[in-house]
Amino acid sequence: MGKVLIIGAGGVGGVVTHKCAMNGDTFNDIHLASRTIEKCGIIQKQVKNKTKARITIHTLDADNVRETVSLLNHVKPDLVINVALPYQDLSIMDACLETGIDYMDTANYEPRDVAKFEYKWQWDYHDRFKQKGIMALLGSGFDPGVTNVFSAYALKHHFDVIKTIDILDCNAGSHGKAFATNFNPEINIREVTQAARHWEKGQWIETPPIIEEGAVHFTFDYPVAGKQESYLLYHEELESLVKNIKGLERIRFWMTFSDNYLTHLKVLQNVGMTGIKPVNYKGMEIVPIQFLKAVLPEPSSLGKNYTGKTVIGNVMTGVKDGKEKGLYIFNVCDHAECFREVNAQAISYTTGVPAMIGAKLILSGKWNGKGVFNMEEMDPDPFMDELNKQGLPWQMKDFPHSL
Ligand code: NDP
Repeated sequence: MGKVLIIGAGGVGGVVTHKCAMNGDTFNDIHLASRTIEKCGIIQKQVKNKTKARITIHTLDADNVRETVSLLNHVKPDLVINVALPYQDLSIMDACLETGIDYMDTANYEPRDVAKFEYKWQWDYHDRFKQKGIMALLGSGFDPGVTNVFSAYALKHHFDVIKTIDILDCNAGSHGKAFATNFNPEINIREVTQAARHWEKGQWIETPPIIEEGAVHFTFDYPVAGKQESYLLYHEELESLVKNIKGLERIRFWMTFSDNYLTHLKVLQNVGMTGIKPVNYKGMEIVPIQFLKAVLPEPSSLGKNYTGKTVIGNVMTGVKDGKEKGLYIFNVCDHAECFREVNAQAISYTTGVPAMIGAKLILSGKWNGKGVFNMEEMDPDPFMDELNKQGLPWQMKDFPHSL
């Protein structure tokens, strides 16, 4: 039994709160804090309508370490689940260090003024978390998160060495809007407009961003979703998997995008609406991408009319008992079913459910440690079991060649 403080009342925060409430054996006291208390109130009411659990809500600006420390001292949770934005990671980690409380998130830290994705800032906390005797678990969403656990599971049970990993993320769903992003628009657009990067034979190789000439893409025949154009992207789990999966020769991340999405993004980029530097408008400083976020649909509002499925997983090749082999481990998730269960679309669901599972394993003591850890450093077996029980069942099939 444990007490959690969930920070962030967006699409993912809503799913984490619902799923914690549905796992009352583990989460007996659930607190939800966010910048806009009204959003916490909406989730509180939704959960009340669906479960017996009661959620306590708080206003919090998690950029402010003092305010966060004060809330942590007041609530005294066993674990903080950070599903606000990557900008808040370090301030929340600072507050956890000061109060001696375990920390978990789903996305690595990013500074606001540079769209740069690396674990260094958070890995630098390792010694301080270790000395304090507390744990930080990084990236417990789907990708990063489940994709890291799929890699660790494959290495534990099916390979002596994994040589290649291709992570393939397909959203074959439709939300009916002309243009929207499935998670926070600002974070999403910063991620997909940067140069692509993958790791091969000991070095990082950079290729053009998805909307530029020369972007690398190919057609993959996904289970259930069929053939979809998949684009090479940089994604944060590549960095930790390169470090933790020894013997890896190549790792890449692919994501599907429709022509409609790419055309909109290209126009927005060309007219300067994806910029992250402030511009002066009538004497006011406005950051174009933040203004764009304000006019785009909220990820949490997309669920109602979303149809179709997501298919996310890893194709891995390597050697077992002297023989070359390949495996594909993946999950198929249905947008409409997610909405029926927890009022959310599948992108929020596939992120929020693994966040709840990571929290459950920490609170039950099945996952523990002192310091800062990525998902693949933990025993994959209890996590894989929970995926099957908590709404994200996985499938595995032979895939006897690399992509
Ligand atoms: P949303 O934009 O829907 O929600 C973010 C929430 O955080 C909002 O409630 C927002 O409040 C709150 N917030 C923002 N700043 C602060 C602050 N300073 N203090 C307190 N609360 C704050 O985003 P999503 O729910 O879609 O995404 C949440 C996180 O999940 C992101 O970090 C995203 O990168 C990550 N993610 C991870 C994935 C994975 O597979 N690993 C996949 C998808 C998302 P307000 O409404 O007031 O702005």
